[in-house]
Amino acid sequence: MTEAKMYYDNDADLNFLKGKTIAVLGYGSQGHAHALNLKDSGVNVVVAQRSGGDNHKKAIEDGWKPVSVAEAVKQADWVHILLPDEVQRKVWEEDIKPNIKKNAVLSFAHGFNIRFQQIVPTSDLDVIMIAPKGPGHLVRRQYEEGKGVPCLVAVEQNASGKAKDLALAYAKAIGGTKGGVLETTFKEETETDLFGEQSVLCGGLVELINSGFETLVEAGYQPEIAYFECCHEVKLIVDLIFEGGLGKMNYSISDTAEYGEYVTGKRLITPAVKAEMKNVLADIQSGKFANKWLEENKTGRPFFNKARKEVSERMIEKIGARLRSKMSWIKK
Ligand code: NDP
Ligand code: MG
Repeated sequence: MTEAKMYYDNDADLNFLKGKTIAVLGYGSQGHAHALNLKDSGVNVVVAQRSGGDNHKKAIEDGWKPVSVAEAVKQADWVHILLPDEVQRKVWEEDIKPNIKKNAVLSFAHGFNIRFQQIVPTSDLDVIMIAPKGPGHLVRRQYEEGKGVPCLVAVEQNASGKAKDLALAYAKAIGGTKGGVLETTFKEETETDLFGEQSVLCGGLVELINSGFETLVEAGYQPEIAYFECCHEVKLIVDLIFEGGLGKMNYSISDTAEYGEYVTGKRLITPAVKAEMKNVLADIQSGKFANKWLEENKTGRPFFNKARKEVSERMIEKIGARLRSKMSWIKK
């Protein structure tokens, strides 16, 4: 197995950002963190945040003078899009494309719109990605603590010949090179990100937890016990895996639990499940999933809204809310 090259602070040079004004579009989860970290790293930043909501209030409280997307793009040498993926195409067509400077840098925190050709930038632009592998509030908090959330960087278009240096410099300015930066492509980042969240992290995990919970409840066991067993403990187990891999988890659990892991794990996650994962991946690679999601947004999200309601009304959610309300340490 070859080891991927990692980039750290010494591999990136903030001088590549000197004299540039970076427009951060959106002041949500990622936007507020990038804008504040860039500013604290000495970069000229202009924040675009529409008025009317909490993020606009927050931007003002944080000392910015938020402007419209069109205005920010006009002022900037570099445009970093931190808007929801499903609105980026429209904002690109209406506000970014008509106003972006020639030879500017266009950057993203996720490859969706480039990978699925929702945004097709002109060839004079550098098109790059700086994708923190963590939620925005952590990107900010870790930076303030002198640490950093690891990032992926990618170059889609290298018009200036300096696109990778620019991406690494940006990653350094938001703290990413403290955690470690890995180079990828828009294709790889997008496809692996979508696959991971659908199969393992969100889709797979939610249904695994719920099926376990329902199996115990339907067999007549107390729902509270089912919740602790099949949901609450997931975090405790994942923390062990996060800290020391499967080895640390297996060391910490009982041998009975470990034996059960070996005999039952493969009974549930059968070759058929993996075969279906390959179908899921194929739908991501072919663009079928992306098209469905974009179509869903165009038609007012009928499936999405129904599914969100169904999940929020599940018994596990009601039981969990009650139990968590008594656990003072997780309230925050
Ligand atoms: P958020 O939903 O937290 O923030 C979105 C921002 O865009 C808000 O400021 C919102 O303003 C603004 N916005 C929404 N719709 C419009 C619109 N139609 N016109 C103008 N502004 C709009 O998004 P995230 O920070 O989560 O995501 C941003 C990008 O970062 C995405 O590409 C995502 O894939 C990527 N990313 C996200 C990660 C995460 O953990 N959240 C991790 C890595 C990458 P308002 O408050 O007014 O709605
Ligand atoms: Mg992801």
